[in-house]
Amino acid sequence: MLITFLLALIVFLVLAFRGLGFLAWVAAAGIWLIGWRIVGIDSPLLYETVAIVLIALAALYGVPPLRRQLISRFIMPRFAKVLPRLGDTERIALEAGTVWWDGDLFSGMPDWNKLLGFEPPPLSADERAFLEGPVDELCRRLDDWQVYQLRDLPPEIWDFIKRERFFGMIIPKEYGGLGFSALAHSRVVTRLSSRSITAAVTVMVPNSLGPGELLIHYGTDEQKKRYLPRLATGEEIPCFALTGPEAGSDAAATQSEGIVEKRTIDGNEVLGLRLNWKKRYITLAPVATLIGLAFRLKDPDRLLSDQEDRGITCALIPRATPGVEIGLRHDPMGVPFQNGPIVGTDVWAPLDEVVIGGRDGIGHGWRMLMESLAAGRSISLPALSVGAAQMATRICGAYATVREQFDTPIGRFEGIEEPLARIAGLTYLMTATRTLTCGALDAGEKPAVPGNICKAYLTESMRQVISDAMDIRAGSAIQRGPRNTLARAWDAVPIGITVEGANILTRSMIVYGQGAIRCHPFVHKEINAVAANDLAAFDIAIFGHVNLFVTRAIRAKLLAFSGSRFADAPNTQDMRRYYQHLSRFSAAFTIVSDSAMGTLGGSLKRREKLSGRLADALAYLYLASAALKRYHDEAKTTSNFALARWSVELCLFRIQEALVGVLDNLPVRWVAVLLRLAIFPLGARFRPPADRLGAAVARAILEDREARHTLTADVFVPPADDPGLGMLEAALDKAVRAIPIETKLRDAVRAGNLDRAPGHMLDDLGLAAGVITQQEYDLLNEARDARDEAVAVDAFDAEVFKRLH
Ligand SMILES: Cc1cc2nc3c(=O)[nH]c(=O)nc-3n(C[C@H](O)[C@H](O)[C@H](O)COP(=O)(O)OP(=O)(O)OC[C@H]3O[C@@H](n4cnc5c(N)ncnc54)[C@H](O)[C@@H]3O)c2cc1C
Repeated sequence: MLITFLLALIVFLVLAFRGLGFLAWVAAAGIWLIGWRIVGIDSPLLYETVAIVLIALAALYGVPPLRRQLISRFIMPRFAKVLPRLGDTERIALEAGTVWWDGDLFSGMPDWNKLLGFEPPPLSADERAFLEGPVDELCRRLDDWQVYQLRDLPPEIWDFIKRERFFGMIIPKEYGGLGFSALAHSRVVTRLSSRSITAAVTVMVPNSLGPGELLIHYGTDEQKKRYLPRLATGEEIPCFALTGPEAGSDAAATQSEGIVEKRTIDGNEVLGLRLNWKKRYITLAPVATLIGLAFRLKDPDRLLSDQEDRGITCALIPRATPGVEIGLRHDPMGVPFQNGPIVGTDVWAPLDEVVIGGRDGIGHGWRMLMESLAAGRSISLPALSVGAAQMATRICGAYATVREQFDTPIGRFEGIEEPLARIAGLTYLMTATRTLTCGALDAGEKPAVPGNICKAYLTESMRQVISDAMDIRAGSAIQRGPRNTLARAWDAVPIGITVEGANILTRSMIVYGQGAIRCHPFVHKEINAVAANDLAAFDIAIFGHVNLFVTRAIRAKLLAFSGSRFADAPNTQDMRRYYQHLSRFSAAFTIVSDSAMGTLGGSLKRREKLSGRLADALAYLYLASAALKRYHDEAKTTSNFALARWSVELCLFRIQEALVGVLDNLPVRWVAVLLRLAIFPLGARFRPPADRLGAAVARAILEDREARHTLTADVFVPPADDPGLGMLEAALDKAVRAIPIETKLRDAVRAGNLDRAPGHMLDDLGLAAGVITQQEYDLLNEARDARDEAVAVDAFDAEVFKRLH
């Protein structure tokens, strides 16, 4: 009997581990019955009871009509009460975009071969030529300090940007644009942001959510032909006005409205809109010629249909239209890109001309915005964040070598090594995530949840990287001036955190909220079935869900006990264990998430601290996947190995922290206890990347030139006379050449052939004693001068100072 029991259990667990719930029950029942025949009966009652239970479970799993009548019929009404109720705007937001790798992570059994086999299209020859041509040229022409003093881009830079069609990156070639891929677009913004955030934001906005993108996807042919060519060449400068004083994060609450009215114009009766709005924070508004406007369209006289409130609608309003007040500027943290309010008072415009998509577009504004954001959130702010992080890596790698204190380059101090490792590791992780997500866009996906993850988690990582970089550069990061390239990124951090969905909201509501409904294999189907009162569909969804929970619970438990060893992993020797750990956490995430939904129902939506932690777990699963994918696709160097391991270990630790946080705070305590036993039976054992690994990562940007360059491939490196990064790079080159000579001197001191002396006095002694040649002495002096220059800060005449920005 024991053997039969063990055999049935093992077969059941193996099949359930592989996600085959129905087969697992059938096989267990079969083995039990066969065992009964072969072994004989010791305790008939026990055998019969177990057999009946197993057969009943197998039947429930495998015979839908039976379970529909016995179970689903009764639980469907109860489900209707606990499932989250979705308003129209919420439903449209949740349903925007497509489900991609995020679906695999939610399923608890990610197929790593699918990820590793994913080959996004590479940059085209045109795109590469643009990056190396106009983008580098624009970077060369940009003087960001001058931009700050002018409080705007100089006219010749505006002209260059327009002439080279920077504003038309997303506009198809047939309309005169560049027709770039998402990755090319992102890399252009990244490179520009390494030189001037003002220029990057200026270029970014017409290429993100706004008139251009809305027209491409939803405009009428006439509207496309009219506006797209002019937007591509910068003849029209667009802005997009959604946010108002009353409607920030809750953008759908906009009080801007357009009333449908008839007017007689030149003897003809024209149907139009009388628009009133107050918008603020609108990027490019002060210089815009074409305003993309989101407003609520109302038809009180029922001129269009029987419905008075037709919902959120998007329109294009030319700046010159009477009633438009535009031109005032906000001052966003001193970063001088154009940003300001727009007010419209009784602005009248012909409806068919201005509503995007014509009459068919009426009331579809919210869907247009959500669908565009599903793609756009993966591009603009992630690109800016990667630019800032790569720049910080480039600067700090050089500065920590060039800057000496206590007669030692500061990069050799462990205290500096720690933030350096964070800077380099996060930069690797952020770039990997950006590349993977843009790749998905270029492959035709609209990955909404990964886009939200990119927006929130890459901007947060940027905040960490820039803060660390400021600490490493210390005083020289604080004194503003042309030499200081970090302070501008520091100023811009809160902008990245806030725009396109402020991070607190994105983390605590959107990432998990959308993930739970869209990426979960069954929840969306359950909601739709309940809404449609479709018992058959509900039955299939709910039993699929039960099967998912049971099999993933078994999987999570077995993986936790085995240190993830039973998990399938791609045949990659060096990273195999990480794939396995992530598979384990994916299963753990599935059951924790299902338990939270199951015990809290619709109220989980308001438990933002819990859903924020679930968002963290999902986000770091995604980021870690991106790091593994990057490592798989790139050269297997020692530095890449350290960077990838650091990234994945950080993610594993954060996933664990997030799951432990959910378990610690889940209101239904017995469920939390059972979950803890299932997913952390041996305790929470993952730790942040070890010091030794951090040291290897820091060395990658201090000592491995190739790794430093690869890690910062998007940064524009200016010539040596540039007072910021240019001088620092030149000083680094000289410092590196001086290292063997300095070693020679130090060895001589150690051997007792030279007296100990500080700095250049030791060089003099070395020259006099013949330890180094005149040429070597000159090189040391050059390196010292370059160092002095690179660590110098700006100082201003008192009168000049008063006029500075
Ligand atoms: C420099 C800059 C440029 C911008 N450019 C544009 C533009 O071109 N066009 C445009 O239309 N808009 C633009 N915006 C607006 C931007 O998108 C909004 O600022 C943003 O959506 C947040 O709105 P808010 O600032 O009013 O914050 P609020 O909505 O007042 O939010 C305040 C805080 O509450 C949090 N919060 C709100 N609701 C919740 C919730 N349910 N749960 C948890 N936390 C919540 C938010 O995360 C935030 O931390 C820009 C803003 C800035 C600063």
